Amino acid sequence: MKALVLKENGVLNWEEHELLEVPGWYRIRIAAAGICGSDLGRGFKGGAYHYPLVMGHEFSGVVEAVPDGGNFSVGTRVAVYPLLPCGKCVACQKGYVQLCLHYDYFGSRRDGAFAEYLYVPESHILPVPDDVSLDEAAMCEPAAVAHHAVYSAPVESGARALVIGGGPIGLIAAQWLRIRGAGEVTVADIDPEKLSFAEKFGFRAVDSRMLAENEQDAFDVVAEACGVSATRSLAVWCCARKGHVFWIGNPADDWLFEKSLYSSVLRKELSMNGSWNSVIDPDWTAVLTHAGRGLNLKDLVTSRVPMSQGATAFARILNREGFHCKTLLVNEGDA
Ligand SMILES: [Zn+2]
Ligand SMILES: [Zn+2]
Repeated sequence: MKALVLKENGVLNWEEHELLEVPGWYRIRIAAAGICGSDLGRGFKGGAYHYPLVMGHEFSGVVEAVPDGGNFSVGTRVAVYPLLPCGKCVACQKGYVQLCLHYDYFGSRRDGAFAEYLYVPESHILPVPDDVSLDEAAMCEPAAVAHHAVYSAPVESGARALVIGGGPIGLIAAQWLRIRGAGEVTVADIDPEKLSFAEKFGFRAVDSRMLAENEQDAFDVVAEACGVSATRSLAVWCCARKGHVFWIGNPADDWLFEKSLYSSVLRKELSMNGSWNSVIDPDWTAVLTHAGRGLNLKDLVTSRVPMSQGATAFARILNREGFHCKTLLVNEGDA
């Protein structure tokens, strides 16, 4: 088959690549696969586990071959949970598969979906409802990660909510907060293009730097979806008394937790928690229930590029050519 192969750091080629056939698994013809921020680090900043690697962990497709005894039929439109837990470690034993110590993962530890085909196990397949497109289905993974995060603690109805970071995860987290019944949802970022994009989804959009000056203690719940020290501090600073902070953004730097900031955690009696990955039930099932019904995934897609042009799509994002929220790589004739 053809695949977008990461040959070495920074080198992506659309070329012939061996499809790993797994007995007992389904062959999926990939329809769409999203480029994730983590793929930039993986592919272009030395972050890959090994080479060659086919990246792509956010994807949808169509069943093309069914194993003996399989319950889904050829032609079924599917989303696929990319995390393959070991099933044996302490986290798996406790049922926290998203926290598995020895997991495998499509598109990072093993080949993923920037390709024509992929073999996947039945346990990881979610059939896509007729009214959800394969583009939307390819957004299940980031949407589920955001769901897992903002459903990990209570949010009172009418709560004033802030999401710091106007990327795909931030905008989806903001939508889930709205679905959960938060009152006004504010999205903060320093990029004016991201702010006007956030406004299209009905959010109040503010420059993070203005927030620091004007809105201390203003939000009952804060979701940090940037991962830099300035925004982590901002999250604590902006959180109201008895408020809650959701930590989502992967850390890009160290964070000096200043005495004054720490003291405000005590004085405001803040609660906070981290979250990692997602689980099929309830995160993925919630995405497929809400997609197109309050959860707008479609409009997050700012470009659709043929898989064979994937290297160019990556270059545009890395060189900051134009505005990007979610770029989908698609196989011709699908989605
Ligand atoms: Zn991702
Ligand atoms: Zn495990």
